[in-house]
Amino acid sequence: MVIETNSPEETFRVGKELGEKAYAGQVFTLTGDLGVGKTVFTQGLAKGLGIEEPVNSPTFTIVQEYDGGRLPFYHFDVYRIGDVEEMEEVGFDDYVMGEGVSLIEWADLISEILPEKRTEILIEKDLERGFDYRRITVAQRE
Ligand code: ADP
Ligand code: MG
Repeated sequence: MVIETNSPEETFRVGKELGEKAYAGQVFTLTGDLGVGKTVFTQGLAKGLGIEEPVNSPTFTIVQEYDGGRLPFYHFDVYRIGDVEEMEEVGFDDYVMGEGVSLIEWADLISEILPEKRTEILIEKDLERGFDYRRITVAQRE
């Protein structure tokens, strides 16, 4: 599925709709260059789960947990990860096999340990279509 947006509000709404439909144990992977809108999308997804707390990129930790919504939400940002063993140390497997909804920003950096069943989100710019244009590709992997 491909969705095109032309503002941060629209990208937020795409995330929100997926958050409203998210199920226990669902894993989202999020890929795209710096400044493309991964955090905007994640904030929408959290809103769709009913989380009212502000969601930002977890700068000093690999994972940030939010318990205020319909399901627990585990937000990973693995941008600064050295190697995948650091993921084991934070209990990555327990999170992704748990009852919450997991979202992993920069998931391509830990591709070898991702669960096979996952919802992949790719966000891309296309400057020919304007500065605020984003193409969001959603693909279900089993
Ligand atoms: P990332 O987390 O991928 O580094 P952010 O979500 O922090 O990116 O930032 C995205 C930036 O792009 C924001 O400043 C936002 O206002 C801007 N932006 C412009 N158009 C869009 C769009 N269509 N979707 C999402 N963000 C957009
Ligand atoms: Mg970000």
